[in-house]
Amino acid sequence: MQLLIPPEISQQLVDALRQAGQREIGGILMGAHIGPDAFRVKEITIQRKGGTFAAFIRMVEEILAPLLAFFDTTKHDYTRFNYLGEWHSHHSFALVPSGRDHMTMYDIVIDQQLGAGFVVLLLVKLGDHGQLEGSVTVYQPNKTSFAGSIIQESSV
Ligand SMILES: [Zn+2]
Repeated sequence: MQLLIPPEISQQLVDALRQAGQREIGGILMGAHIGPDAFRVKEITIQRKGGTFAAFIRMVEEILAPLLAFFDTTKHDYTRFNYLGEWHSHHSFALVPSGRDHMTMYDIVIDQQLGAGFVVLLLVKLGDHGQLEGSVTVYQPNKTSFAGSIIQESSV
């Protein structure tokens, strides 16, 4: 599974990480299905409230409105444009999901309301030179999670 991150989204993430300092921040990923096993992030939400040093609490009310707006702009073409998953920062530890991250993601993927066949978790941090570093993990109901690959697209 490949997750493509366009330059404007990378920049949004870098800016948000800089502003957040040591607080964990996160949000949801909305994107397009662009090929077999390939997805491009189109929009993200950035939740700054509720972030603590080591735990990110998802606030459902903050993600609903942006998600519905995304569905409107993409004409409710859910097979191509949909919720992809979640992202959050791991400033001070490795870019691997914690036990709590795994639990949260399995809760989301088995949520029948979303009807998602899979969801991804994107973990991000700033590297030594201020560059975006990330990892992506793919979750499916009743299956072991696995690592996907991130492709940071460059501007033309
Ligand atoms: Zn985490």
